[in-house]
Amino acid sequence: MDFAPDARTDEITAQVRAFLREEVLPAESVLDEQLAGTPDEWTPRPIVRELQRKARARGLWNLFLPGDPSETGAAGLTNLQYAPVAELTGWSPRLAPAAFNCAAPDTGNMEVLNEFGTPEQKARWLTPLLNAEIRSAFCMTEPDVASSDATNIGTLIRRDGDDYVITGRKWWSTGAMNPDAAIFIVMGKTAPDAPRHSQQSMILVPRDTPGVRIVRPLTVFGYDDRDHGGHAEVAFDAVRVPASNLIGDEGGGFAIAQARLGPGRIHHCMRALGMGERALSLLTARATERHAFGRTLADQGVIREWAAEARIQLESLRLLVLKTAWLMDTVGNRAAMTEIQAIKIAVPRAVQTIIDRAIQVHGGAGVSGDTPLAELYAGIRSLRIADGPDEVHLSSLGRAQLRL
Ligand SMILES: Cc1cc2nc3c(=O)[nH]c(=O)nc-3n(C[C@H](O)[C@H](O)[C@H](O)COP(=O)(O)OP(=O)(O)OC[C@H]3O[C@@H](n4cnc5c(N)ncnc54)[C@H](O)[C@@H]3O)c2cc1C
Repeated sequence: MDFAPDARTDEITAQVRAFLREEVLPAESVLDEQLAGTPDEWTPRPIVRELQRKARARGLWNLFLPGDPSETGAAGLTNLQYAPVAELTGWSPRLAPAAFNCAAPDTGNMEVLNEFGTPEQKARWLTPLLNAEIRSAFCMTEPDVASSDATNIGTLIRRDGDDYVITGRKWWSTGAMNPDAAIFIVMGKTAPDAPRHSQQSMILVPRDTPGVRIVRPLTVFGYDDRDHGGHAEVAFDAVRVPASNLIGDEGGGFAIAQARLGPGRIHHCMRALGMGERALSLLTARATERHAFGRTLADQGVIREWAAEARIQLESLRLLVLKTAWLMDTVGNRAAMTEIQAIKIAVPRAVQTIIDRAIQVHGGAGVSGDTPLAELYAGIRSLRIADGPDEVHLSSLGRAQLRL
């Protein structure tokens, strides 16, 4: 067994690390200023475009998309090669993923179009997404049903001549507040009476189609996540689109959703490790410079234990994430499902504790907006719900373990 990264991974992580240090981290305060200057706008701030221009010029673009680079113009990294890159982007979740055009939900939507889209759908929507000329949203979750069980989804997609007509209500459509999010991938039912996992389909709905209505933005612990397009409640009132907007076959929506979520979940976990590393580095800096009761905080035993436990958690979970990435590369996403579920449970849970302790070490500053910690906490806490709550993954993993 060889734990050394290959030459390509070394090369790309060095480039991404340098870009993060030189461009992204210094831009965080610029983003804050630009957000404060134009508080009512949902469009990305100029600093995001500037970082994207610079990252693209250095070839650090669409790093998430595996496969043949000649077809997509992406970097063609394997999941294993992308893992440390995505981890680095977790150091600055508000800016870094977008800077490299590697931000959810666009990544998952691009993967869906790349894998299941027709040539026309790819030309119309995938190419501009790969160029970051437009943004997108993924509309599966609904306010009226327990959406962690995707078979509950109630939105109807009814065939009418050469069109489909979509009626339903979605929420938590990340990115949809951003007017640049020109295309929504909507999941709904084309055959409510078919077998449970064949009722659903996915369909492309351009934002400007009559009947699409942004109802309101949602907040996460009070954060509106404006820097990545917010989260919207969206109504679809008899929205008519051409039948050619269907992705894949009628009844194939559930399978596409599953295919989309595998890579999405591991990307979240990779970035979460970076969030944990950043929190640990802030904890370390604060603990070594701050004095209480005649000693630095780092000299207090409990804080040393927290630092040690954080290091153990990050190192061991990184190995599990890398193994999962390797499995996805070698035996496929479906065969790696158990490991994907395991990391989706374990990583956010551990990183939440690490960030929580970093907050504690900062005292009052930790819960203020003066450090990134409070917002990192909100992000990691919601990740224990988004893309499937912990309990759903635990139940399914436990079933597999017990062979039920
Ligand atoms: C920040 C954020 C961003 C999101 N982005 C998107 C997006 O872009 N697009 C999108 O479509 N959705 C998105 N979501 C929605 C997210 O995927 C759903 O919230 C999630 O799947 C849970 O669905 P629900 O909210 O309907 O919870 P429910 O299904 O109502 O579940 C509620 C709780 O019930 C419990 N539970 C459910 N099933 C079981 C079980 N089998 N065993 C034990 N307990 C169980 C769990 O504790 C669960 O948290 C986002 C959510 C958040 C918070």
